[in-house]
Amino acid sequence: MGTPANIIAGSHVWVEDLEVAWIDGQVTNVKGDDVEVHASNEKKVVANLSKIYPKDEEASPDGVDDMTKLSYLHEPGVLHNLAIRYQLDEIYTYTGSILIAINPFQRLPQLYDIHVMEQYKGAPFGKLRPHVFAIADIAFRAMMNEGRSNSILVSGESGSGKTETTKMLMQYIAYLGGHKGSEGRTVEQKVLESNPVLEAFGNAKTVRNNNSSRFGKFVEIQFDKYRRISGAAIRTYLLERSRVCQISDPERNYHCFYLLCAAPQEDIDKYKLGHPKTFHYLNQSNCYELVGVNDAHDYLATRKAMDIVGISQKEQDAIFRVVAAILHLGNVEFAKGQDIDSSVVKDDKSKFHLQTTAELLMCNPNALEDALLKRVMVTPEEVIKRSLDPDGALVSRDGLAKTIYSRLFDWLVDKINFSIGQDPNSKCLIGVLDIYGFESFKSNSFEQFCINYTNEKLQQHFNQHVFKMEQEEYMKEEIDWSYIEFVDNQDVLDLIEKKPGGIIALLDEACMFPKSTHETFSQKLYQTFKSHKRFIKPKLARTDFAIAHYAGEVQYQSDQFLDKNKDYVVPEHQDLLTASKCPFVAALFPPLPEETTKSSKTSKFSSIGSRFKLQLQQLMETLNSTEPHYIRCVKPNHLLKPSIFENANIMQQLRCGGVLEAIKISCAGYPTRKTFDEFLRRFGLLAPEVLEANNDERVACKMILEKMGLVGAQTGKTKIFLRAGQMAELDACRAVIL
Ligand code: ADP
Ligand code: MG
Repeated sequence: MGTPANIIAGSHVWVEDLEVAWIDGQVTNVKGDDVEVHASNEKKVVANLSKIYPKDEEASPDGVDDMTKLSYLHEPGVLHNLAIRYQLDEIYTYTGSILIAINPFQRLPQLYDIHVMEQYKGAPFGKLRPHVFAIADIAFRAMMNEGRSNSILVSGESGSGKTETTKMLMQYIAYLGGHKGSEGRTVEQKVLESNPVLEAFGNAKTVRNNNSSRFGKFVEIQFDKYRRISGAAIRTYLLERSRVCQISDPERNYHCFYLLCAAPQEDIDKYKLGHPKTFHYLNQSNCYELVGVNDAHDYLATRKAMDIVGISQKEQDAIFRVVAAILHLGNVEFAKGQDIDSSVVKDDKSKFHLQTTAELLMCNPNALEDALLKRVMVTPEEVIKRSLDPDGALVSRDGLAKTIYSRLFDWLVDKINFSIGQDPNSKCLIGVLDIYGFESFKSNSFEQFCINYTNEKLQQHFNQHVFKMEQEEYMKEEIDWSYIEFVDNQDVLDLIEKKPGGIIALLDEACMFPKSTHETFSQKLYQTFKSHKRFIKPKLARTDFAIAHYAGEVQYQSDQFLDKNKDYVVPEHQDLLTASKCPFVAALFPPLPEETTKSSKTSKFSSIGSRFKLQLQQLMETLNSTEPHYIRCVKPNHLLKPSIFENANIMQQLRCGGVLEAIKISCAGYPTRKTFDEFLRRFGLLAPEVLEANNDERVACKMILEKMGLVGAQTGKTKIFLRAGQMAELDACRAVIL
């Protein structure tokens, strides 16, 4: 990025630093490729010329509101610019049309009030300070003026502010597109009011965020031919199912469980509840309460929000009955039975919870016990009832809990969509995507695999868009861009999703063969992708594999991939709940159509991976039919506190969010643009004769470029376009004169 040109003794530069990523300093000596720098922390550093970047001494102390205005577009310049703005509470900065939003971790109400909305309404882009409202405003205007669908893609790591940003976008769009005077609640009100319901059931406290959304969300706001909001749809992606049964300190399970345990006494009695400590699904972690959150209050608020989105009292009752049932189910324990490899319900306490679960789900307790402890095996010869050992029974119990919970969540989403109302004749839409960013932890499983796959998909979309925008700018300015090349991440996508032969296809194959294990699956991967550039078999690994993602290498543990990919409800569980006397529960488990039950294994096999791939394809199709806008949320520190800016950490996020990639694409072309006027003011002194000759600005700029012998630089219609490093070259010449 940006060839270091003209680095000489005395030059102001950025040099890499382990602690703060980049530190500024002044060159004291250059020997061949070794540059000696006196850094501003008083350390002396020697670095390779290729690791040194020029620092813009002319830069404004308050930074620039758009990175493309930086004279030197490179990593340290970008980071420094964000840092100084963040200190001034300027949390938004553009990179061209991309908005970077740094979580302030403090309420900034004056930034979002109605007067601010008024200001942004219809204001030309770039005239006011960078803001989410400005992005929503261009999306809205484009939709109004051209009748084109638009989308706003919000991404970033957990806790970076995606969901808050999404709410702000929705509020602004509601402000613009809402119609007054209509009776009842408007579509946009309903969309906003559905948030608390979805959050109660889909959000949880994690280490990264106290209110972390554990699902991806795409909200589609539909407009009629008069360009008024006429409907909306919420699509959700990949709810984290494992959390229902498994949490680790200091995280929590989904909010709804704690809310329910804090319900008024009457409800507690009805559902036989107690302190969250008494439930296995909640007491695996020591965290029960959240600072600043009152679960009792939120329980009532959630019920109220449910009223508003049209969930009846009866349905609400059933919903919380199911939530309570899951808690009781988790307390059912098993012991070894008399026969080998069989199990029984452990003790009276477990029997009580089993009984209660059955009562709440309104199903037969004996059938529930059987469904937990036994499996029916159908072989060509006979039907056998096989017992599960205690471990198998536990897996069965947790599987049932997860299935019920995810069906409940899907029901809520469907209900909300029904209540908001879709407009089948909608002419165009504004979509807002709030989806998990790239993840790379110490241990990465199937969930991270799917999440990172999503991010690869979105990254490709993003790159193509940025590349197109660059080209459009070049065309508008009528300059030559024909030789600019860039390589995208299609190879990673092929590795993951290609059919046949990609990782998802191989995983499905493994899931269909009863004999496969994660070992055989991993071996198959190693064989198949031996020479794939993006696939790595880590040295000591026996079943782990790694993928070289655009944002870095991630090592995946394959041991749970097969189980987690199987999207299959045990027939015993299915039959049990289909037969529930509670219409709500029974409706969560509609009987399977005849053909699937008797069809062969291959025809109806469904997997989480493949279904997700399909969902993603549909999402991409929707996004491709829209004009995209990007917001990259950044989490400035791990402490979730205001005013702390962790350089290295932020750098990594900019990399994951594709901001650096966008800059790279830009650097492959003409990273520095200056208007003729700006250019002349800065470099006129390099050719005073040109200024004196009273040429027109464009001609004068051209003459300076020629005089300085800058190969490849171009003169557009309103701006000068410089190749990477050329700005530094000019500055160096200028420094000699000054
Ligand atoms: P994500 O959805 O990316 O995981 P959230 O949107 O839930 O993150 O944000 C995490 C927390 O950060 C919020 O609960 C809020 O406290 C804070 N936050 C995020 N964005 C803002 C903002 N623009 N202003 C004030 N606080 C914010
Ligand atoms: Mg979120």
